[in-house]
Amino acid sequence: MISYCSRCLYPSTKPDLWFKDGVCGACHAFDLRSNYDWSSGKQVFRDLLRDNKKNPRYDCIVPVSGGKDSTYQVWRVLKEGFNPLCKTAPTDQLTALGRANIENLKSLGCDYIEISVNREVRRKINRHAFFAVGDIQWPEHLLIYTIPVRAAVQFQIPVILWGECPQREYGAGRPEDAYLKYFDRRVLEEYGSLNGLRVSDLLAIQGVDDRDLYFYEYPSAEEVDSLGLKGIYLDNYFPWNGISNAVIAQSLGFRVSEENILGTIANYENLDNYVHGIHDYLKYLKFGFGRATDVACNLIRRNLLLRDDACALVEKHDGRYPSSYLDRNLDRILQYYDISLQEFGEVCDDYTNYELFLNDASGQLVRRPDGSPQLTGSFSCLHQ
Ligand SMILES: [Zn+2]
Repeated sequence: MISYCSRCLYPSTKPDLWFKDGVCGACHAFDLRSNYDWSSGKQVFRDLLRDNKKNPRYDCIVPVSGGKDSTYQVWRVLKEGFNPLCKTAPTDQLTALGRANIENLKSLGCDYIEISVNREVRRKINRHAFFAVGDIQWPEHLLIYTIPVRAAVQFQIPVILWGECPQREYGAGRPEDAYLKYFDRRVLEEYGSLNGLRVSDLLAIQGVDDRDLYFYEYPSAEEVDSLGLKGIYLDNYFPWNGISNAVIAQSLGFRVSEENILGTIANYENLDNYVHGIHDYLKYLKFGFGRATDVACNLIRRNLLLRDDACALVEKHDGRYPSSYLDRNLDRILQYYDISLQEFGEVCDDYTNYELFLNDASGQLVRRPDGSPQLTGSFSCLHQ
């Protein structure tokens, strides 16, 4: 039986989410921030970068996608007087808007490196992960973490500046990890959305061998320790808010989508990959919530959206069949991986949680009445 946070709309089916007194970990972790002394964060941040400087030219690596958050991160580092080396692991099906935003970020005043892994191999891995664990973005989830660490080791830059800590922002992890200060191998392995698929498992894919997997592997403990690597989160030192990040990023030339995006309520995020819609739809089928819920919950926590208004928005937008994403149709997105619409439907069916959903008399997938959120209070919502 699914239950919901009494403050936001996060469900008990969300992986790694903890609850206390009916309130989810993301809401509890957000409350911790009211105790932060932001006035000292800036100085702690500056000292940390100065104390860990090893490369004569660069102060830190900033992993960037060109999105609102990474544009804000680069702006922040430059504003504090430091020189970042920016690093992108581009998505497999990079959108035109995503490319435009990367080019914009490169104009902010920083050196920039883009590492693209072998496309043919990656395409095979995306396809394999889609069938094996129902996650077509599996390589992206891994490479956004491993490639910056590779670059840190190669350029001998000990500090990697990540944006928000997911264990804080989304409550994904043990309660004590809401205080997480550093990203390291343990965090990647425990929370990296790898769904039990290991890098070594990829060798079973025809045409993939050891040489293809260099960037998928986290560097050795010896390399990391001798560098003194510290993966830090900007949200430990400065207030973090996706909306204000988007506002600042737009003032710097970042572009949002001019069209509504299927399956969500925000036009300022997840603009760089045509497969986001597929990923979010599978997430909905597996766990009963989608990207619209994530965005709505962020807004509720910040007192920017009432919970019952959020219900109406989530009901309308979550779980929409991803017939297109931005300017590309689903069949074309799947064609890149040699996946047919029929195979897509079969995989969706395989990964649908039938404790939450059922097929009605007309064959339509609907939520089970007992799987719908019976929200605390006088209202309820979603596919009753
Ligand atoms: Zn909550």
